[in-house]
Amino acid sequence: WYQCIDKAIRWTDGRMVRMEIAIDITERKEMERMKDEMISAVSHEMHTPLTAMMGFTEFLLENEVDRDLQKNYLKTIYRETERLNELITNFLQLQRLKASMVKFRITPVAVGLLVADVVSLYAAASKKHRIVVECPPDLPPVRGNEEQLYQAISNLVSNAIKYSPDGGDVTIGASAAADIVTLWVRDQGIGISPEFQEKIFERFFRVDNSDRRKVGGAGLGLTLVREIVATHGGRSWVESSPGKGSTFFISLPAMT
Ligand code: ADP
Repeated sequence: WYQCIDKAIRWTDGRMVRMEIAIDITERKEMERMKDEMISAVSHEMHTPLTAMMGFTEFLLENEVDRDLQKNYLKTIYRETERLNELITNFLQLQRLKASMVKFRITPVAVGLLVADVVSLYAAASKKHRIVVECPPDLPPVRGNEEQLYQAISNLVSNAIKYSPDGGDVTIGASAAADIVTLWVRDQGIGISPEFQEKIFERFFRVDNSDRRKVGGAGLGLTLVREIVATHGGRSWVESSPGKGSTFFISLPAMT
């Protein structure tokens, strides 16, 4: 794609020559196309939770239902609201990331402190899982944006809780070797079969079975994790055995 930014008429060897100055806008066009695609996909994804929320609310308003059923429907409405909230948060963060990293404040980030922040949030929110931390105190800092890295760790911990039965351990650990800080989040949950272990990082991809359908989510959480980590010059991947659990890894260049 080219965009004409100036035009001129010149006389060369007695002939009129029309000149145009154009700039290459292929990259900008590609960004716009991706943005449009993302917006239409998100609007489409918003329909499912909204339809469920409207349907159940309408039913509760118009019918006399017993307390148990009422509670059941309210739980569904709550789960769908959570799903919508997660979808919007992750979508907005992805858009901000795509816009440019320059806007983000880059500082030395102490991974151990970030982990402690995430843990304090989830320990309070989820009493049904034990959250264990295995971070050595002498980890080197990484260079990055604190808010983004917090979001990435938080998405992994949120998934570890979502996809594990009550009572399971969620372990957050970190180690440093050869100028790389590696952080992992391990769960004892349902696991992921090998054929999906790469696909789950694609946007809107959710492993489709009835168990997971019960869990709120929009399939953007891991996309955001991967984008954030890649913007920081790092890598993200998973190791998992179905039925036994998963360990998600993030590796980031350490500050030397
Ligand atoms: P969401 O959780 O909103 O569906 P994510 O992008 O965070 O979206 O995850 C994509 C899919 O990967 C999930 O739908 C789930 O099937 C699978 N997944 C993610 N984390 C885990 C985990 N810790 N254990 C098992 N499956 C997981």
